[in-house]
Amino acid sequence: MSLSCRKIISRIRNGAIVLIFLLLLSCSNDNGTVITVNGEIPAGAMGKTLHHEHLLVDFIGADSTGYNRWNKDSVVNKVLPYLIEIKKLGYKTLVECTPAYLGRDPQLMKMLSEESGLQLITNTGYYSAVESKYLPPHALRETAEEIAERWIDEARNGIEGTGVFPGFIKISVENKPLEQIHRKIAGAAAITHKATGLVIMSHTGTATPAFQQLEILKNYGVHPSAFIWTHAQNETDFEKHAEAAMRGAWIAFDGFSADQIDRYVDFAIYMKKQGLLNRILFSHDGGWYRPGEPNGGNFRGFTEIEELLIPELRKKGVSQQDILQLFVMNPKDAFQVRYRLL
Ligand SMILES: [Zn+2]
Repeated sequence: MSLSCRKIISRIRNGAIVLIFLLLLSCSNDNGTVITVNGEIPAGAMGKTLHHEHLLVDFIGADSTGYNRWNKDSVVNKVLPYLIEIKKLGYKTLVECTPAYLGRDPQLMKMLSEESGLQLITNTGYYSAVESKYLPPHALRETAEEIAERWIDEARNGIEGTGVFPGFIKISVENKPLEQIHRKIAGAAAITHKATGLVIMSHTGTATPAFQQLEILKNYGVHPSAFIWTHAQNETDFEKHAEAAMRGAWIAFDGFSADQIDRYVDFAIYMKKQGLLNRILFSHDGGWYRPGEPNGGNFRGFTEIEELLIPELRKKGVSQQDILQLFVMNPKDAFQVRYRLL
């Protein structure tokens, strides 16, 4: 080998080392990690994501639900094809939004993640809407601090000894001015965020309870960007969405179906004009296996956004870069573990 050849190789090697270093640096700036049911991954590995779907929901109530209500293998048989279907469409991650006492099953999610190759994210937290039907009795008598202690324990030590860790906080309030129980649950979420850096996804609806929750977060010193205003499509006034987004909150239009296409497209275009496309999230709120119904009942798949919404957005002038923003960058930003404090 000639000297000059060696020099060239050495330069290439040095260049490669510099390149790897820069890549590592950009990854580390790229903002930490997200937590899947199979453990922590770099936020950049989250990829194309559906941020609000369900694999199983059990509506029987906190007093009667339990893992005995479904057979995990039967659920896997039913649900797996729907996950493989979206994996083929390029999705890498699905966020499973079923909270505890409504059918959250970490082991089942692990099975489905391993079989499908799709990254799944689960949650800690409680669902206080529907007159406390889905709350365990301790949630009624304990303080926000005591409830938060349980959720923080799941975030630090895993859920029920399964080795599965939650990747976000899921709560729910009634779609009206907040009553005491919902204020307490929102407070517990704020305390948990401050201890864990997990984002808060709150089943909310219209603007009044959304802004009230932002106020509660503020009282705990938590920034609006720690909050995903879930089911925001139930608020008709886009200006309210823009106002919350300008404060930093995430605005989730998460109930997409074919008959909603015009509204979702109008919303995206409105927010783009306001320079707020980087605060919105789209999903189907689709699924799910229903324990107690024959073969889990009717399952709604997760493909309509890809088949209908994205082509329509593109037709209306939303760029490919904007689509990446909506389905890759925004979920990555929303779900990465990070303290968002005032
Ligand atoms: Zn949902």
